[in-house]
Amino acid sequence: MKGSDVVIEGVSKAFGDFKVLKDVNLTIKKGEFFSLLGPSGCGKTTLLRIIAGFESPDIGVVTFDGKDVLPLPPNRRPANTVFQNYALFPHLSIFDNVAFPLRIRKASKQEIDSKVTEYLKLVELEEHSHKKPNQLSGGQKQRVAIARALINEPSVLLLDEPLSALDAKLRQHMLIELDQIHDKIGITFIYVTHDQQEALSVSDRIAVMNKGKVLQVGTPHDIYESPATDFVARFIGETNLFDATVVSVEPMHKETGDEFMVVLDIPELGSIKVTTVDTVVPGQKVSFTVRPEKILISKEKPATKREDINLYQGMVDEPIYSGFQTKFYVKVMDNVVIRVIKQHAKYSDEGPDIVWKDSVYVSWSAIDGYIVGV
Ligand code: ATP
Repeated sequence: MKGSDVVIEGVSKAFGDFKVLKDVNLTIKKGEFFSLLGPSGCGKTTLLRIIAGFESPDIGVVTFDGKDVLPLPPNRRPANTVFQNYALFPHLSIFDNVAFPLRIRKASKQEIDSKVTEYLKLVELEEHSHKKPNQLSGGQKQRVAIARALINEPSVLLLDEPLSALDAKLRQHMLIELDQIHDKIGITFIYVTHDQQEALSVSDRIAVMNKGKVLQVGTPHDIYESPATDFVARFIGETNLFDATVVSVEPMHKETGDEFMVVLDIPELGSIKVTTVDTVVPGQKVSFTVRPEKILISKEKPATKREDINLYQGMVDEPIYSGFQTKFYVKVMDNVVIRVIKQHAKYSDEGPDIVWKDSVYVSWSAIDGYIVGV
């Protein structure tokens, strides 16, 4: 496979007294679409710049396929960067912008013609090759920047919030194109973003960062379904999150003993049941989370006798209808808000039947909640 393995070991960096990166360790595999995701200021751009060679770490190692790249300047590393602001040459045509790296290394006219044509085709801009950057839309400019970054066939493409200057609809479209380009050329992509939807939708794996640290590395499914910390649970999508104390722990399968039914005490909600594969003990302080789309909402009390269902009666405080789904803030117990999202399979017979101030039941089963951060 094309692309390089990129390994970051014990990387720390400070600007003055401010520690931007604190002992970052990551192994990014050949050909992966890997995202660095975190809020503004968490250090993700600094980490990308260290991989590119625009910054040096205070301590730590960065290798590409086992080779230490830290002594190499950016242009000697087999990596190229696509920046948020495109960084195109305004006076050059699209053809000449894309040809630029080839001219620097004195490629033949024949090679320039064939490769520029090939890469303009890859980003679907063959027909615009004679234009100047100011004659293109934002999305087209970014595609030129991508073609220019790829034309020297790097083994790693670094992308620093490349879509953030585009409007929401175009961003969605470009994201799909980026994914298709990645599939076609198969090199390693390292993608910096603060947008969790972007990261979830294109990445093979994601590193979630906060305050200079990597909190969790996993597939989009791992990160969404089993957040490792409260921060990850809140940052990735909407959730219901509570402090809890473990009351009891029972193995669910006596033979294997690898899954447990846990009773938690949540001050606002009382006792709830949750299944887990993590080891917890009575008295332990944990966090509990359940995603809004895992919760059922109904006007009738669910006719179930299952013991693993957590059920509350409440009042709809604020329904927010958005076509394909409705989000409800439901007040249960003593003004505790539970967020619920109901997807509308069929608009005609679902959704608007539950309205503001309705008395409702919300419920979820023990396997739909998670204990976080153990
Ligand atoms: P954003 O999404 O806002 O770019 P980020 O997660 O990419 O955030 P960085 O750009 O890596 O974060 O910056 C992390 C912190 O380091 C910020 O507080 C920033 O102000 C600071 N910082 C970055 N570069 C420098 C520098 N050259 N000198 C001093 N401080 C810097």
